[in-house]
Amino acid sequence: MPHIHTGAGELDFTVCGYVVHDNKTLLIKHKYLPIWTPPSGHIEVNQTPIEALYAEIREEAGIYEDSLELLPTQTQNDAFIRTPEAEAMPLPFDFEVHNVIDGHRHINVSYVLKSSTNHVEPGEGESNTFKWFTVDELRTFKDTNNSIISSAIFAIEHVRENS
Ligand SMILES: [Zn+2]
Repeated sequence: MPHIHTGAGELDFTVCGYVVHDNKTLLIKHKYLPIWTPPSGHIEVNQTPIEALYAEIREEAGIYEDSLELLPTQTQNDAFIRTPEAEAMPLPFDFEVHNVIDGHRHINVSYVLKSSTNHVEPGEGESNTFKWFTVDELRTFKDTNNSIISSAIFAIEHVRENS
């Protein structure tokens, strides 16, 4: 998917999906950066965060929405009155801004999803290097950052406790 912004000092909205199957979570070796990440990408101008979430997982892993169950870590405050035009979105488990390169930053929301399949089939042009990681494997994995490692371990534990 094309960048929405590319310049220094500019911000994009992004979404990450930690997909869990059988006490393992999926990380994919990034196409350009020297890290492994969960399926993730820019929220395009015509997408809600949830639409972008499912699109990224479909494109990068070939796993479709009907194999996935989003497991929020907290519920929306149902005291809020929604107008008929408004739809409450599932709350992310993490919401942060991080620097990518050259001052280009991502405003990121992260979700946990339980998958009924571990069959991964990256789409055309996507990274073909991926692995389902156990908690023990994540604790000793060096080829990504601690933020992703801790989120990935959290995702496995969240699915274990909620299914
Ligand atoms: Zn970007």
